Amino acid sequence: MKPYTAFPQDALSPLFIGGNLALDFVNTVRVRKGETIDMIPTIEDAERWWLKAASHHLLRDAALRFGWQQETFDAVIQLRERLRALFEAAIAGKADEEGLRSLNEGLSCGSLTVGTKEGRFYSEYGGYDWAEDPLVTICLSAHELLTQRDLSRLRHCKSGQCTLLFYDTTKSATRHWCTPECMNRARSRENYLKSKGAEPRAPANLQASKPGLKA
Ligand SMILES: [Zn+2]
Repeated sequence: MKPYTAFPQDALSPLFIGGNLALDFVNTVRVRKGETIDMIPTIEDAERWWLKAASHHLLRDAALRFGWQQETFDAVIQLRERLRALFEAAIAGKADEEGLRSLNEGLSCGSLTVGTKEGRFYSEYGGYDWAEDPLVTICLSAHELLTQRDLSRLRHCKSGQCTLLFYDTTKSATRHWCTPECMNRARSRENYLKSKGAEPRAPANLQASKPGLKA
């Protein structure tokens, strides 16, 4: 993979179109005009993104207090690669073992327990103050996506020039594009290529799916 390029400051507008925190996090690497762009290339960028993500996903106030260190930043960036592989494999109906291992490592800081309240059981992640830790919070979001949602709704944007992932929450389950703008750009490009008699490109993949267990 060629080195990432920092996202131009004037266009630093994180997209929260994934419908899930872990997907939005993976989407901080995107392709723009054929170039791979990292929207959080520095700790400062990651901190800014985290504050916006915390607000968008209504995370606890504790998330806003997290003090980013180089170690956390490095771990979070490594997790991003692994989660992308895991999600892309899940879209293909497979399990990416390396991705699962990283996810489970992140989750192993705490433990999943069952509690009761007013005669009902509920699931709780405890034993670790995860509320302000981006890595664990993102891992819990990925856990929720993979274990509690309908994975046939986990999608890759249909544009051959786009790498964004999202969870389709439409009633009709017919969302195939990250944004209407991306759809319009792809259709214009398709029409242009058709007029030139060329074939549209296959969907972009930042990381080819690795062989894994069939889900
Ligand atoms: Zn798109």
